[in-house]
Amino acid sequence: MTPVSATDVITDALVELQRRVANLDEGEVASYIPQLATADPHTFGIALTSMGGNHYWSGGVDTPFTLQSVSKPFVYALVLAELGLEEVTRWVGAEPSGEAYNAISLEPNTGRPANAMINAGAIVTTALVPGTDEEERFERILDCLGRFAGRRLDVDERVRASESETGDRNRALAYLMRGAGSLPGRPSGVETYFRQCSVRVTTVDLAVMAATLANGGVNPSTGETVVPEPVAVQVLAVMASCGMYNASGDWLLRVGLPAKSGVSGGLIAASPARFGLAVHSPPLDATGTPVRGVAVLRELSTRFGLHLMRRSSRTAPTVKLAETARTAPSDRPRSEAEREVIERAGDNVAIVAAQGILDFTESERLLHELGNVLPEEPGWVVLDLEDVSEIRPFAEIMLREALTRLAAQGHQVTVVGDLAPHADEGTRADGEGAWRQVPSRETAVARCEDALLSAGINRQAGPVSSDGEEGGDGA
Ligand code: GLU
Repeated sequence: MTPVSATDVITDALVELQRRVANLDEGEVASYIPQLATADPHTFGIALTSMGGNHYWSGGVDTPFTLQSVSKPFVYALVLAELGLEEVTRWVGAEPSGEAYNAISLEPNTGRPANAMINAGAIVTTALVPGTDEEERFERILDCLGRFAGRRLDVDERVRASESETGDRNRALAYLMRGAGSLPGRPSGVETYFRQCSVRVTTVDLAVMAATLANGGVNPSTGETVVPEPVAVQVLAVMASCGMYNASGDWLLRVGLPAKSGVSGGLIAASPARFGLAVHSPPLDATGTPVRGVAVLRELSTRFGLHLMRRSSRTAPTVKLAETARTAPSDRPRSEAEREVIERAGDNVAIVAAQGILDFTESERLLHELGNVLPEEPGWVVLDLEDVSEIRPFAEIMLREALTRLAAQGHQVTVVGDLAPHADEGTRADGEGAWRQVPSRETAVARCEDALLSAGINRQAGPVSSDGEEGGDGA
């Protein structure tokens, strides 16, 4: 074992995990595809690829093996990207079947397979791949799988031949669906499905493929956008509900990560925005799921709190400041009289500052606190977002809506930071956008104070029609 550096705690964790799970020697190597039975049951590797494209692993992660059912989510991604969710859903559902991978799980009237993670659904998905013939269709599949892995992949011809020789159940499924009018191609297209299942990968390849889904469709190793983000989300959703065949519900309960297993012993799991993980260990349980893979994922998820339904943690308080110019005036030199006005009427200038990443919870908090310091009559509002590192879409919608409403109610709104008003968010009396952007909170507060002062020293309330004369910061 190569020594790991002091900062590489991830490799340590994987090595530790592997050592503990290695004692598990239950399960049988798949033999219904004769060539798979030749796999060494002791092969055991774990690989993890981070969102920064860094790789961590433990054990034998370079041994090539065939994708088998782990190919299904990626070919599903390919057709979703090509045809869109509505068209694909006409042909294949998104309901957990509660049945084995090779079940005849077809909707009673339409013959539509339950989902794309079971064989029937995957045979349909493969048939949906655009192409003039099976050769072209397969080339697109191979190309797409390679872009997910970040390198050109190839087919293990011995496994393909072995699967084709013994694949009558899958052929039967194809004919049944053809008879029901639910197969968008010829039953002979099932040979392309056999080829896709026989594409050869390593455990590290699989980790990169899973990481690409976890990273919104962008391969973190190559930087290539393999599929659009909504497609990656759709695929992860179906993996979460249907990826583990008849053990899917229990998996979601105990592990809580989108995952997919294959009968050659591969298992992938994606922790969105964190990492892609792959385990390879050939012995399978009665549901056709790799025994050690399941044990690794269960332990990892519990120990590191990876369940999808867990609330995400916050590292720093969102609201840094929620005051008014009375309690937090600017540093601008003021005369005695001016100071008096600011002390008396400074509550007409609300100042809030936020930091970190803003999502729903954070912007709810921010807007709630702004509500607490907001002037009763139309006044001035300074929103300082300078230390905000990211505004997520939900938060941006909330902030824009609130700022637009404040402006419409007559408040003079100033934003420090990167949130420019759109044209449809209204205009101020001076014809500018609904809110003004200035480079610093100090400038913003000083200008609001200036406007407050020029509105008249006896005035308690806010601006008249515009914020009038302003101080000379020239920003
Ligand atoms: N190629 C395999 C089959 O169709 C895939 C099954 C699996 O990996 O679960 O039987």
